[in-house]
Amino acid sequence: MDLIIQIIYFIGALLFILGLKMMGSPITARKGIVWAGFGMLLATLITYFHSEITHNYIWMTVAIALGGIVAYISGKKVAMTDMPQMIALYNGMGGGAAAAIAAVVLLKMEFTNGIVQTLAVLGAVIGTVAFSGSLIAFAKLQGLMKGVIRFPMQQWVNALVFVITLTLGLAIILSGNNYAIGTLVAFFVFALAFGVMMTIPIGGADMPVVISLYNALTGLAVGFEGYVLGNPAMMIAGVVVGSAGTLLTQLMAKAMNRPISNVLFSNFGEGGDGEAQAVSGSMKEIDSTDVAVMMAFAEKVVIIPGYGMAVAQAQHKVWEMTKQLQERGVTVKFAIHPVAGRMPGHMNVLLAEAGVPYDIIYDLDEINEEFPTTDVVLVIGANDVVNPAARTDPASPIYGMPILNADYAKNVIVVKRGKGTGFSGIENHLFFADNTRMLYGDGQDVANDLVTSLKEL
Ligand code: NAP
Repeated sequence: MDLIIQIIYFIGALLFILGLKMMGSPITARKGIVWAGFGMLLATLITYFHSEITHNYIWMTVAIALGGIVAYISGKKVAMTDMPQMIALYNGMGGGAAAAIAAVVLLKMEFTNGIVQTLAVLGAVIGTVAFSGSLIAFAKLQGLMKGVIRFPMQQWVNALVFVITLTLGLAIILSGNNYAIGTLVAFFVFALAFGVMMTIPIGGADMPVVISLYNALTGLAVGFEGYVLGNPAMMIAGVVVGSAGTLLTQLMAKAMNRPISNVLFSNFGEGGDGEAQAVSGSMKEIDSTDVAVMMAFAEKVVIIPGYGMAVAQAQHKVWEMTKQLQERGVTVKFAIHPVAGRMPGHMNVLLAEAGVPYDIIYDLDEINEEFPTTDVVLVIGANDVVNPAARTDPASPIYGMPILNADYAKNVIVVKRGKGTGFSGIENHLFFADNTRMLYGDGQDVANDLVTSLKEL
């Protein structure tokens, strides 16, 4: 039976890897999630037959059923804009599960090998920090916890808590199986506290990057605990999650042109930098009828969606408008910035949900050269990702961030509700440019007006 179990774990692990690979493209992503989920189901079911599991079947089944029901209902109900906090919560659960396994292992296992115990302790620290940190990230994104908590010498206090956690972990490793239970409890309490303290000074707006980092940590913790338990499915799943999380964190940091240390230890997203806000020119308004005419008689229109489109849930109307333009012979393309919205792939998911075909959706690198030959760029609910200050103003906090060069187009229409700034809290130079017109209103209402105006032409 043991061999069969190992083979099934291996198949489960293969399914995780194949599933993750499929998630790399929006065309196969849905299938990838199903495959990975099937791998998880296989691994869970076969564990019932594990020779070391001889009791607690009812508890296991009740826990799995409860978790499954809660996850199913919340997954069905969650709004797209609330997805980052949902991921934070699930990620926290993963870290918590790794930490719980570590606690049981440290309490019950007779360690004969220092390396195994060291990995158990490392998995415990990392999983616990990811657990409490992710819960704080969830609370911030959900609006349960407002603002940042900062106090003097904070980084030093955090460093002290971290050193105490590591010292307690070291004490456990050095004492083999003979440490006091109090040491283990204190070790977990300090690790929990460190996760909280590390996250409270970070602004809510930076949370997606932090969540991705905790995701990588959760993977690492699961991988370590998988090694300790000699479970290949856990090891592979952990390593896959750990490396995917690390790459995603790097990608987000790179697309925002900010090192991770800057996300963790600075104050971006909590307000702009005064110097960078000086802009010249004025914002010029336009109405939806004129915009409809402009687009209807254009050869090429590029649509740049951003966070505001997600808030307005305007994607369906935008797609309806696109189809009308296409029927008139206008070439319409969508341009997606890697960090448009509040999580990677945010815009791709929304557009896919509305039915926009993938072959008219372009990444930053693919589309940036096309702006000078574009007649109309329609920026809908995007702000920072089209701010030319990133290219031109070294004093700007977003300086160096790659942006979509919308300002190079012949005409730019910006749809937004009012004078609200974007995520970085700074003024956008594009809105004041000579070739830019502002179309004020909620994204969905404006897209609806454009659809109506186009019909009347
Ligand atoms: P953004 O800079 O946050 O700007 C969104 C704009 O949408 C705002 O200016 C807002 O202006 C407008 N808006 C809000 N609700 C609207 C509605 N109902 N209808 C119409 N407009 C609405 O968005 P972005 O250009 O997508 O940039 C994303 C930002 O998030 C970047 O700075 C990026 O670094 C950051 N970020 C992204 C990720 C990621 O993974 N995607 C992760 C971390 C951080 P009004 O209030 O005036 O309407």
